[in-house]
Amino acid sequence: MEEDIKKRLERDLRLAASRLRRMGALTAIEERPGPLGANSLGADEGDVIQANESREIGFATREVLVARVNRLSAALDRLNRGEYGICVECGEPIARARLRALPEVQRCVQCQDGLERRRLERGDERLTLRT
Ligand SMILES: [Zn+2]
Repeated sequence: MEEDIKKRLERDLRLAASRLRRMGALTAIEERPGPLGANSLGADEGDVIQANESREIGFATREVLVARVNRLSAALDRLNRGEYGICVECGEPIARARLRALPEVQRCVQCQDGLERRRLERGDERLTLRT
């Protein structure tokens, strides 16, 4: 069972990392100041706005992916140390069904709920994206 989890984590990590690399390459090209910048006389205003919007979506997706890569590699670390499946907060084992659904989780349901409540109380919406 642990071997299956390891394979799944490694595969997910590879996928997320390669998506991130492709995205990074794409963004680098977009960000390079070219002759057709926003101050170009030929640029249509609508196109510029649309380009900015899709760039923002790209940033958001990239942040989510970076967080996922971090979580997945942390999960692999814990697996290698024999700490996988143990809640980082209370030290209790995380339910198998939860690990199967979300192999990179670090907390049991109770601690995750508490964490999300604390985040909501602080009004930190950005962090609720992360597991
Ligand atoms: Zn816990």
